[in-house]
Amino acid sequence: MGNYINSYNRWRKVNEKMVGAEQAVNIAKSHGIKLKPYSANNPKPVKHLDKFPNGAPELVSAVSTHGSANFESDLIDIVDKIQDETKIKLNITGGDDHFHRGRGSRHTSGQAIDFVVDGTASNDAQSKIEYEVVNIMKSGKYPHLGMINEYKNPSGHATAGHFHLSVGTSTEYSYFHFVKDANGKTLTGKGQDFDNKILALGGNAGSGKIYQGGDLDTVSVTANTPYISDDTQITGTTDTYSSNNIEQMKTF
Ligand SMILES: [Zn+2]
Repeated sequence: MGNYINSYNRWRKVNEKMVGAEQAVNIAKSHGIKLKPYSANNPKPVKHLDKFPNGAPELVSAVSTHGSANFESDLIDIVDKIQDETKIKLNITGGDDHFHRGRGSRHTSGQAIDFVVDGTASNDAQSKIEYEVVNIMKSGKYPHLGMINEYKNPSGHATAGHFHLSVGTSTEYSYFHFVKDANGKTLTGKGQDFDNKILALGGNAGSGKIYQGGDLDTVSVTANTPYISDDTQITGTTDTYSSNNIEQMKTF
């Protein structure tokens, strides 16, 4: 019984925060988050030219080609939180965008967002972002939050990276490079298995305290050993990203 109610409330919570394309853009702008503009790789925008004469930002660019786009505003709030806590300027490069439409990922339902470090995504920057996301997961405020560090994800093509965040009725496959699980292993997994790993790190997710809110933990970036040299700098600029659709394709 309790589990049933919890599941129902989680579903409601996720879906009650859906907003339209214009509102999603306004929320991001109000937070001072950079938005990648409509990609030159997309078809000429044909819809909602009154609101977005040059095409909507990639956050919701599907509205300019498909006529509608709704987005989970929690994801924008999470990017804002990451930016505020890490002091690292971020740039949202994808959401319910034209490219992801028809590819069957959570992007097409407005439940996934892609962002890059605005500038050089050093290991230090990536690590700080990962630790902040784990803190947000541990808070339990956003159930079934998943994240993939696509800068470091060993699968797929070696191209420009980004971070992929998603929500939904279960936690999507997640991969962290710098944060380790309670056993010192790579923090990765999906669904309840991943939720349990966050619990083991001291989180509230799945503990029944999800709706009690409360302050998030203080960000603490502890020493960790990256798999590659700290000297290696990985860039994730908007331009590189927008010119490489293959990179977007491998993220679901
Ligand atoms: Zn993505």
